[in-house]
Amino acid sequence: MIQKLIRRVFGKRKSGKPTGPVVVPVQQHGIQRSEIASSALKVTDKLQEAGYEAYVVGGAVRDLLLGKHPKDFDVATSATPEQVHALFRRSRIIGKRFRIVHVTFGRDEVIEVTTFRGDSDGQVTDDAGRILHDNVWGNQEQDARRRDFTVNALYYNPATQEVIDYHRGMDDIAAKRLAIIGDPVQRFREDPVRLLRAARLAAKLELTISEETRKPIAGMGELLQNVPAARLFDEMLKLLFSGHAWQCLHQLREEGLHHGFFPLLDVILEQPMGERFVQLALDNTDQRIREDKPVSVGFLFAALLWHEVLAAWKDRQAKGELPTPALFDAMDQVLEVQEEKLAIPRRYSVTMKEVWALQPRFEQRAGKRPFRLLEHPRFRAGYDFLALRAESGEADTELAQWWERFQVAEGSEREHMLVKEDGAPAKKRRRRKRKPSEPAVEAGGDAGGNE
Ligand code: ATP
Ligand code: MG
Repeated sequence: MIQKLIRRVFGKRKSGKPTGPVVVPVQQHGIQRSEIASSALKVTDKLQEAGYEAYVVGGAVRDLLLGKHPKDFDVATSATPEQVHALFRRSRIIGKRFRIVHVTFGRDEVIEVTTFRGDSDGQVTDDAGRILHDNVWGNQEQDARRRDFTVNALYYNPATQEVIDYHRGMDDIAAKRLAIIGDPVQRFREDPVRLLRAARLAAKLELTISEETRKPIAGMGELLQNVPAARLFDEMLKLLFSGHAWQCLHQLREEGLHHGFFPLLDVILEQPMGERFVQLALDNTDQRIREDKPVSVGFLFAALLWHEVLAAWKDRQAKGELPTPALFDAMDQVLEVQEEKLAIPRRYSVTMKEVWALQPRFEQRAGKRPFRLLEHPRFRAGYDFLALRAESGEADTELAQWWERFQVAEGSEREHMLVKEDGAPAKKRRRRKRKPSEPAVEAGGDAGGNE
């Protein structure tokens, strides 16, 4: 009896191995309340005042311990989604498979509030062992066991400034190690997206995946086939917009996770011709993310798949298709392959097609066409794309420079540029035969149509 009490209070077994959580005081971990977003503090304070347990958990605690700036703040609580919703006016319950509450602050700041999950017998799985529903509530200890990696299972209590650590996450932080909680095979099988999360978090946070966690990864990639395309797409976005996209993709390749089941990655990582172009596009995106500038999903995906489109386009022309229909058919062909596995939402594929279809139009520098192109709503994206192509060596640098100048030139200067480029007055241009030195894509004519 006394033994049991001692064990409960001190969390020690006879052997000296801790059983319960390790409670780490602020003097040891160093996270100050002031480092937590005020919106997250409002959520934990209010929940605690109402008598519930509430902690900041997951990525934010992990990132602060690693000396990084957290992207967002997640809260874990003993309150059910309905109880959370009842406390916050601007909140809504979302998700079916995994019900959580979004509490909104200001214009668009969202704190994700998750109820402690219970033991695994409350989960509904498919034949492959993948969790389909996970809405059985539990206590903090059970919740910790259900999280993916030890460094993601650290709970920070803003009221006491203590970190609660059930799975030696603090040790792994110190060792810069990413280790899954529990049996790796079972945990990856439950949710194969964890395979991708492992690669992304390791690359982004410069952590080493522990040997035990890493071993089964390459052999389990097939399981991603089972994951709904929309969820894969979301994970792909997280990866591409992590600010470390290039490293993340390479980590995927290193873990053997890019073959077959993820066509987009095969394309990106195995096309030597396009590798430089893709790298430039990703570097560009990483840079913008780090500078907190907006990024365009459609633009980046257009870049990732451009060399596929180019190859298919060339192929179709070689088989006798006319350039313009060949381009449009090539675009559809490439998108179709991607859609099977990676449901690219329509709004993005529309942008992708627009950016692609504009490319041949940049070849036309005579008459009214350049002026029409300037007015195209996607001109800027199209031009940025051309500039990237030129930088990678695939498009003519002189062409990109011409458009750089043409955009900002005064009216008369523009006319002057046209004449100079064409070597003939604009009016006569239509009857003139194309010079052999001009790029063949001009034959594509107004590939984008008159939008
Ligand atoms: P970041 O937000 O920086 O991408 P994160 O770890 O916070 O990283 P989220 O997707 O915000 O990622 O998830 C919050 C927390 O929820 C994680 O830290 C982890 O504890 C838990 N979690 C997320 N996804 C899973 C999963 N697939 N399986 C188990 N636990 C998960
Ligand atoms: Mg997070």
